[in-house]
Parts: sequence; C-alpha cells; structure tokens
Amino acid sequence: MDKNIFIKKSALRPTEEQRLLTKPFYQNANTIFQHFDDWKDIDRFYFIPLYMEMTYSINGIVAELAPDPVWLGSFVQTIRNHPDLFQFQCPMCGKPVLPYRFVGSPLSGRVDLEGYCACGWKGYQTVSGWFVRGEALRKQMAADTLRYHKFRILHPGTRPATFEELLDTLKR
Ligand SMILES: [Zn+2]
Repeated sequence: MDKNIFIKKSALRPTEEQRLLTKPFYQNANTIFQHFDDWKDIDRFYFIPLYMEMTYSINGIVAELAPDPVWLGSFVQTIRNHPDLFQFQCPMCGKPVLPYRFVGSPLSGRVDLEGYCACGWKGYQTVSGWFVRGEALRKQMAADTLRYHKFRILHPGTRPATFEELLDTLKR
C-alpha cells in the first residue's frame, strides 16, 4: 500500500474560502505594509490569518517554509525586519519591493519572492536560501505566540478582523 495514503493532504491545503480571505492581502499588500505602524498594535489586525500555501510536499513528506495560517503581523514584521532576505529592487524603476508572498522548494533551495511596485511592475524575484527564510518567519511567529494567547484569553470570543475592516480603518 502506498504510504502516502496516510498523509492527510486536505488538512494541509487551505480551503477555497481561506484562499479567498487571503486574496485582499495580495491586492493591497503595499498599502498594508506602508501603514504597518497604524495597525501593528491592534491584536485583531495583527492576527488576521493568512493562508498562503507555503508548504512544500515531496512524496507525501511535508516541508514547511511556514505553516498555514501565518499571522499578518508576523509576516509583515518579518519582511520589514529582514530586508536582506525579503526585499529586492524593482527591475523597472529600482525602488524596493516588499513581497506579499514567497514560495520555494527545499530541494533546490530556491525561493520566489512575489510582489509589485508602485510603478506598475508585478512579478517575482528568484533567490536562493529556502531554509533561512522559513526560519526567519517561524522565529517571528514564535516571538508573537505569547501575544496571540493573551489576545485569545483576555478577549474570548473576539475574532481577528477581516481585510475589509483593516482597509476601512486605514482609509479613515
Ligand atoms: Zn518599480
């Protein structure tokens, strides 16, 4: 019997609904990055879950670049704190691009940083260093775990906000 049959693949894949919830992040990532200081101290925004499928499966063995979901605040914090790992120059205008997603393969070590620029460029930059990037993100999530538990315990029943709520707040 194929041993892969025991791997619950469905549990590792975000649902269509979860994927749709994450879409507004991709579409508004630069705005969300720019206004980080306006929302970073608000738990309901910081802990919006992102389902980005940063899990890589090789013959049923799952290698996690980062587990789904990743908290929005942890993700943005990681990108901002490690410009050497996550930011690159726009190939069209030279301005820094902050990626909204990155996926890669532990086999080749290759990572694609996806992003867009105010000048209209949209695409990805391929870099090497799969492990170090996953590690940076997991460290940030570990650092935020205590805050997350406090948020859940002190405010029982409070759900993380939606991107619509976050974007509405930023427009005010
Ligand atoms: Zn540009």
